[in-house]
Amino acid sequence: MDRYCVFGNPIGHSKSPAIHAAFAAQTGQQLTYEARLAPLDGFAAAVQAFIAEGGKGANVTVPFKLEAHKLAQALTVRAQAAGAVNTLHFTEQGIIGDNTDGAGLVADIVNNAGVAITGKRVLLLGAGGAARGVVLPLLEHRPAQLVIANRTVATAEELARQFAALGGAGVVSGCGFGQVEGPFDIVINATSASLQGDLPPLPDGVFAPGTLALDMMYGAQPTVFMQYASGHGALARDGLGMLVEQAAEAFAVWRGVHPATGEVLHRLRAAL
Ligand code: NDP
Repeated sequence: MDRYCVFGNPIGHSKSPAIHAAFAAQTGQQLTYEARLAPLDGFAAAVQAFIAEGGKGANVTVPFKLEAHKLAQALTVRAQAAGAVNTLHFTEQGIIGDNTDGAGLVADIVNNAGVAITGKRVLLLGAGGAARGVVLPLLEHRPAQLVIANRTVATAEELARQFAALGGAGVVSGCGFGQVEGPFDIVINATSASLQGDLPPLPDGVFAPGTLALDMMYGAQPTVFMQYASGHGALARDGLGMLVEQAAEAFAVWRGVHPATGEVLHRLRAAL
């Protein structure tokens, strides 16, 4: 049977083995998928050992996405744009690095939440690895505006500069939280503030009734960001759909078949 895994440290919490087992059963694909703890100073060796054992591909999570980007012998366009790799494909041509996080987010917004991005005003909070990975897939849907706001303003401005030419004249801009001028149709929280129970310091008027407010984090309870957004009339959504959709994209990269995600998302949600 073809073998796949997810590398991380820590990795015990990972939902990826359950997600990929469900995809394999649904599509009739014969494969195994396990969670592997890679030593903090031994990611490349762990990947090479897995390839030597016959591994066909791997997902990569915290803290190895940048190392995976360096390790890959070729990169997809979206992995180059993201500057990080969450999906490795071991082929006869070598190790291909891909990034499915952004495609996963966009699929969750467009297909699962049923919200079009085209022509909309989009606010992206944060300019770290997760934010960087979603800029290109968002721009491919031609939003009217994409504002990137970050605590460290220079990082947001730099990220906006990198993608300015792709978005069209005046579409992409970067600023600090205090300079954000709402309202927006879609607000994506790609900061890690929710991990500490914090809220990015947003000015009033960012949300309007019907704004889609998506926090990349997920858990049994709504995050502070989701609670705040709901309190201002927005439709709040967590990052569980993004997690399942990025896994489906990776499965498609490896197996050439895109699994259905609805039932898997429903079961994961029930088990949170
Ligand atoms: P990084 O460490 O690369 O970036 C963190 C970002 O959050 C930076 O922009 C940082 O700003 C900002 N930040 C951190 N603390 C605060 C705070 N208290 N207030 C405001 N801004 C803050 O992290 P990642 O980009 O890798 O991850 C971000 C989030 O996305 C995490 O919660 C992660 O779990 C989630 N994620 C979810 C996925 C999914 O499938 N659902 C996939 C990938 C990520 P500064 O530049 O100023 O430091």
